[in-house]
Amino acid sequence: MTQVLLTLNAGSSSLKFAVFDRETLSETAQISGKFTGIGGAPAFTARDETGAPLDNAELETINADADHEQLIARLFDWLEQHLGQMPLEAVGHRVVHGGRNFSVPTFINDEILQELELLSPLAPLHQPHNLAAIRAVAKWRPGLPQIACFDTSFHRTQSRTAQLFALPRALSDEGVVRYGFHGLSYDYIAGVLPQYLGDCAGGRVIVAHLGNGASMCAMHDRKSVATSMGFTALDGLMMGRRCGTLDPGVVLYLMQAKGMDATEIENLLYRKSGLLGVSGVSNNMQVLQQSDDPHASEAIDLYCFRAASILAGLVPSIGGLDALVFTAGIGENSALVRKNICDRLAWLGLELDSAENARDATCISQPQSLVKVLVLPTNEEAVVAKACQNLLP
Ligand code: ADP
Repeated sequence: MTQVLLTLNAGSSSLKFAVFDRETLSETAQISGKFTGIGGAPAFTARDETGAPLDNAELETINADADHEQLIARLFDWLEQHLGQMPLEAVGHRVVHGGRNFSVPTFINDEILQELELLSPLAPLHQPHNLAAIRAVAKWRPGLPQIACFDTSFHRTQSRTAQLFALPRALSDEGVVRYGFHGLSYDYIAGVLPQYLGDCAGGRVIVAHLGNGASMCAMHDRKSVATSMGFTALDGLMMGRRCGTLDPGVVLYLMQAKGMDATEIENLLYRKSGLLGVSGVSNNMQVLQQSDDPHASEAIDLYCFRAASILAGLVPSIGGLDALVFTAGIGENSALVRKNICDRLAWLGLELDSAENARDATCISQPQSLVKVLVLPTNEEAVVAKACQNLLP
């Protein structure tokens, strides 16, 4: 009988899931879907492997205050109806922070869950929700194996130099170092690079993961050499609601001159900054692109300026650039953002093909461009499913 794997990616307002067939382990999920609007007006959508919408009648009404635990109970009921005789073998979770101790996918037990909870302050937007999903699965399906796949793991190939802050050694020794994130996405892109770049896949590549959260990873030999996010997922690029790299003096000013406490500052930097803070309109790139508010266009311009600057800062870590890959919601869909960033990188010998860019083609650089530019869809769920497959007997 066919056995299946469930992957869960639990965020603050969304819960994404996908179901994979263990026998074929196709990269395309048999069923995938999500709850959105958690904590406000939750909605459920699901589709089959062809992308056709699946019946969600049982989940048309969800309590407005349903939390992850309740939603996962409803999801299990719904899955049971749709999977019929196919037994669920394990659940794989995207877990944002694995700290220093978790550098490979790991079976979860109570002890490990407690250790992961200690990392919640380092990823307050994600880790508590990732762990809530694990606890919910343990409650509704005790005994079902659960596996954590960490966004930080992919970056553990980096040199010590790339991981250090210029802080007193004692702090580095206790773990105040650059961890990096979006590793599941980078892992997926690294895996498919040979299909698009042939032998050059092992060359000098920067992947720009531009979603609600955003970061870049400089790779050589398809391994992480340097990345834009550091100790927390607040660092680096400007994001939907997060500020990205900031002069730490601003934090001191907020505390000393404005009397803000840690909770207020966390809220400001994680939830009220980025595209939302600068535009005053939205954290959503698509909405900003359609807006005629000058603050919206200023926010997009700042986003691209900072992305190009951070990309340029990563180039020395790999000694040049052979290819640039755009991925995730903005990277895959916004021709405007890609063009704005690439135009600022022309000095690298990067020549964009505007027509190919406008139609979201896979290769959007001119044939003579010294830097090949690709647009590739990411698939973090497939990486989680594969990790589960490898760990399970
Ligand atoms: P998450 O990090 O939550 O997985 P996504 O990777 O789905 O996020 O990216 C969400 C972002 O992608 C949003 O800012 C959204 O506006 C943007 N996006 C999606 N489609 C488009 C589009 N066609 N044009 C511009 N931006 C888009």
